[in-house]
Amino acid sequence: MGLWRKELLRRAYNNGDDSRVDRLSRTLLNHPKHAPFARDVLIRSMWRRRRWEDVVDLCRRWPESDVHALAGRAGQHLERRHPPKKTYPSERPPEGLGHVDWNATDLHRMWHQVEQKLWFRHPWGWCHWDMPAGWSLDSTHPALIELAADVLLRPWVKEVMAPLTTGREKGSRLGLAWSCGVDSTAAMLLLNDETVLAYHERDVQSMLDHRNAKHLIKKVQSLGRDVLVVRSDHELIRTNHGKMIGFSTDYASGVHLILLADWLDLAGIAFGVPIDNTWLHKGRTFRDFSQSAHWIAWQARFHEAGLDLVLPINHISEAGALRIVQASALASDVNSCMRGDGLGGCGRCWKCFHKNGPMGRPYDVSSHEISTFLSQRPLRTAQHALWALKHLGLEDLVPDLQPLLKEDLGWWESAFEPGLELIPNPWRAEVESRTRELLEVKGVESPLVKVNLFAD
Ligand SMILES: [Zn+2]
Repeated sequence: MGLWRKELLRRAYNNGDDSRVDRLSRTLLNHPKHAPFARDVLIRSMWRRRRWEDVVDLCRRWPESDVHALAGRAGQHLERRHPPKKTYPSERPPEGLGHVDWNATDLHRMWHQVEQKLWFRHPWGWCHWDMPAGWSLDSTHPALIELAADVLLRPWVKEVMAPLTTGREKGSRLGLAWSCGVDSTAAMLLLNDETVLAYHERDVQSMLDHRNAKHLIKKVQSLGRDVLVVRSDHELIRTNHGKMIGFSTDYASGVHLILLADWLDLAGIAFGVPIDNTWLHKGRTFRDFSQSAHWIAWQARFHEAGLDLVLPINHISEAGALRIVQASALASDVNSCMRGDGLGGCGRCWKCFHKNGPMGRPYDVSSHEISTFLSQRPLRTAQHALWALKHLGLEDLVPDLQPLLKEDLGWWESAFEPGLELIPNPWRAEVESRTRELLEVKGVESPLVKVNLFAD
């Protein structure tokens, strides 16, 4: 089989049929004998299509390739095409604030409010939030400010882990850190309709396109729900550590709600984290999440600030979340693609493959991102990706995974009953009844507890 596919690949390349090269080479990329040939042909094919980024990426992945030297020449083409990479200078505070030295032991003095802008001095510069009218730093409990610093700086500043100031009284409402993607929208659909929806808008130029999110926000508002939008550039903090723009920690995605918790009278903050990141470790190995150090420590940390940490879809997979969204009035308005134009997905990113594909929307498996991720082992978000491959009938793209794809993966859409116990009351009852209406619910007999993919 391998030899025959190799011959077909050679012919496709010689005939200039690059889309066939994409398809055939992928089936050989993990072949014990023919993988080197498939890699070289794929790189050459990218080269003649002038897809310089792809050439550089592939050569970086396979430094042993015979055509690896093409990377340098592709890089020169890229430099001519793109201006030098953008760097993000540390933001300066507004006029009048004066000079503030970073001091890890006096965190309260690192926060400043100037009109409705909240400023935070971190070790590498400043970041800001545009807070809603009426909010004030002075009427925010110190524990909330300390918890905010913790989720923003924990990986680098150990002082932020000090005990929080005691005495914040728990409020009465629940806030959801709503990203407008499938997972957090599924969380919204399971929680009661009083939940405060708060969207963090990245206030800095980047690849991320907010138009799909804004489309959904408008739709939800037209259905009578309020949506709070808070703009901030705090995702730049980790770029000081060689990382892409993004959240410093898992819960930094809800830092706007932590800061607003007194103003909104919050008793808890919810995050749309699915089974893939709770009961599965890295989306591929089962663990007892209720006993995990992560859950125990972070739940206690939020409690210190008078807040429940609520994971309303911890018992639901990404596939279950898709089903919940599809059964709702928002089915055609939710789109997790962050490169879409407000009308649909880009069709070329990993989210378009594993989230939009199973919703019947277009995707292109020959795109660089999708084909790269499909050829990586361990497979990214493995259990869900296997389900998506099977659901989309793409088993022949990953011949080495046939044994895993033979099994019935329908269970992946069901909910995992033990997860319901992690959701505190008064919110659990609503989540549980809506879950049971929408999905099959399985207990410890679920195949989930046996998941152990790509074990080392
Ligand atoms: Zn996309």
